[in-house]
Amino acid sequence: MSCGIWDKKLESNKMDSKEEILTTETVNSTIDYNEQIHIPGWIQSHGALLVLQEPDFDIIQVSSNTEEWLNIPPENLLRQNIKCLLESHQIDNIRKNLAGDFEYINPVKLSIKCGNEVKLFNCIIHRNDRVVILEFEPSEDKSEPDFSQFYQLTLPTINRIQKSVNLHELCAIIVKEIRKITGFDRVMIYKFHSDDSGEVIAEDKREDIEAYLGLHYPAYDVPQPARDIFSVNYLRIIPNINSQAVELIPKNNPLTNQPLDLSFSVLRGVSYCHLEYLHNMGVMGSMSISLAKEGKLWGLIACHHQSVKYISYNKRVVCEFLGQVMSIHIPIREQNDNLDYKVTLKSVQSEVIKIISESEDLLTVFRNIGSKLLTIVGATGAVICLEGAYHKIEKTPSDAEITALLNWLKNRIDTDIYSTDSLPIIYPPAKEFKEIASGLLVQEIAKVQEIYVLWFRPEVSQTVNWAGNPEYPIEIESDGTMKLCPRKSFVEWQEIVQFHSLPWQLYEIQGAQEFKTAIVGIIMRRISELAKINLELEKSNSELDSFTYIASHDLKEPLRGIHNYSTFLMEDYGEILQQDGREKLETLVRLSQRMEDLINALLFFSRLGRQELDKSAINLNELIANVGEVVMASKPDVSFEIRKMDNLPAIYGDKILLEQVFSNLINNAVKYNKKDAKIVEIGYKETDESASIIYVKDNGIGIREKHQETIFKIFKRLHGQDKYGGGTGVGLTIVKKIIERHGGQIWLESNYGEGTTFYLKLWNQE
Ligand code: ADP
Repeated sequence: MSCGIWDKKLESNKMDSKEEILTTETVNSTIDYNEQIHIPGWIQSHGALLVLQEPDFDIIQVSSNTEEWLNIPPENLLRQNIKCLLESHQIDNIRKNLAGDFEYINPVKLSIKCGNEVKLFNCIIHRNDRVVILEFEPSEDKSEPDFSQFYQLTLPTINRIQKSVNLHELCAIIVKEIRKITGFDRVMIYKFHSDDSGEVIAEDKREDIEAYLGLHYPAYDVPQPARDIFSVNYLRIIPNINSQAVELIPKNNPLTNQPLDLSFSVLRGVSYCHLEYLHNMGVMGSMSISLAKEGKLWGLIACHHQSVKYISYNKRVVCEFLGQVMSIHIPIREQNDNLDYKVTLKSVQSEVIKIISESEDLLTVFRNIGSKLLTIVGATGAVICLEGAYHKIEKTPSDAEITALLNWLKNRIDTDIYSTDSLPIIYPPAKEFKEIASGLLVQEIAKVQEIYVLWFRPEVSQTVNWAGNPEYPIEIESDGTMKLCPRKSFVEWQEIVQFHSLPWQLYEIQGAQEFKTAIVGIIMRRISELAKINLELEKSNSELDSFTYIASHDLKEPLRGIHNYSTFLMEDYGEILQQDGREKLETLVRLSQRMEDLINALLFFSRLGRQELDKSAINLNELIANVGEVVMASKPDVSFEIRKMDNLPAIYGDKILLEQVFSNLINNAVKYNKKDAKIVEIGYKETDESASIIYVKDNGIGIREKHQETIFKIFKRLHGQDKYGGGTGVGLTIVKKIIERHGGQIWLESNYGEGTTFYLKLWNQE
């Protein structure tokens, strides 16, 4: 639209076709634009330019048209002092102003005696390239606004701008007002997209000319160097594309021996290529004003005229000022775009946050949210990946496709949020499910636990209306050099864009982030609840500790006393006691002994819960052989057989505690067995995981189904105290506790009267 550079010649030996298509990147990386844009070596003809050397203000370079404007030929100015043109008070004024800020001093009004007549000029001064540059523009336009009227001229527009609700309204006001002030045939707002292409988003024009509203322009229509200049020099005017190029004399800045840097100049010459571009567009006069958002070039106010169009300096200042005012309002007006949608989004987001705050756990959150999860980001499908399972809402890819996508994502994303509106382009397998997921938004909730939410959007094949075919043509000249050509045709050219979804808007992405923040709240709340429970547990554990201490120490002492005194009584007075009295004393000894056994078992059990496990890889074959020997030795009167499978797997665990487990189980297998040939079998089964199932099988009395849970409860026995050699009813409770502390499981199968098998699931590795 503005400064296209088309005629930079590219050296090429390889190009053999007449016309080739280049990508924007190729073009940008191949051409050195800088030379062309800020140092064109010439100025436009609607003013004259003098270059002064400080401190004396000697004229060291001039534009070749000085005679036309100042009535003095260039050779009479060159190497002279500025005194030859200006009066001393004018020079003093310039000198004084140079110390200040150029934005405040420009333009300096100068009346200059040119031959017999006195002419009035707007002199625009700036310092650059180690010199002072004076640009003289005639100031004869009587309709030119005086700066005292500036306030009145801009105030109504500023009021309107302030009242505008959204970007659309803001742009509409600006194009209208600028056109009213300047009288251009067409005034447009041209917005740069993230890929640097541009789009006309507002337009005010003469009724009889065709509309450009909605047209897109390729990125290289405003190449990067032109954007750079727009970032520092906010207004550019080209009154007449056919005006004569005015060269500078001498060609180079004598102080640098390089072409003069005209980046800040108002008369700066235009690249021939851009002139050709404007010509092809049917434009004779143009003006462009930069629009910035948060310090970055956001777009342009582009003005076109089919005939010559000069805008006075003061009017230009008004337009530039309005451009600045608009720039200030862009961020907030952009935020107000789609206000209704945003309000709906916000209200659903707060409902979701309420659900989250009232939910106990993540699964409940996800179950209760339902399709609201889609609304908060404007998606058509979502999947929650939680504990290895996929909870799907409406339209999503298949489980296998999600797994593959997640694997791809894990290597790709390093932030906790990721979004794309063209998934099939960057991840080709997504072409298979483009109707569901051409757009993807991923919010990582907890990396370690692998909790993710994936939102999807379907493909929307969009039609982009380009102002002419955006592909880049190159022509090869007869000498073999390449020439980039301005587009000759601006006839609308439609492109169908595939594999894209509607873009994720910033506020939608923020919806996903807020969702995470609220969810993290729940996780944190859960953690703090757990911490509280832990604290309480610790407290009750320590109370239990003191209890077991009392039980083991304080209770055991008098108990031992009772036991000892009963024994003494039996020994010393047994003979004088009646049979009945003796039997009572024997019961007393037996009961106190049993009570001590119970207290010791309780003590052992309570310690078991808190003691640190001392884990290592354990050879189960050796462990069971040892335990078997001990059990055999402890039951010399009982005959039984232990059959152990060969090559039992290695188990990762606490050796002493696992010995306790197998000792209890083998003891019980022998104890609760009335058969003459008592057999205990020990074997294992493999599992899918790195765990093994070990079993201890007997041919004993069996356990009825209704008792199969009870037997694991502390102090629970199924038989009278005297039956099967007695016991405390703690053995299996301890076994279960040890297995659970190893992260394992215990269960049993039994046929009453035939035998019982206990199964233990234990891990082979850490
Ligand atoms: P204890 O053996 O000291 O009574 P346990 O906790 O080891 O305590 O066992 C609880 C009860 O489970 C036992 O009293 C017994 O009735 C039953 N039991 C344990 N193992 C077996 C088994 N292999 N066969 C039949 N019953 C069993």
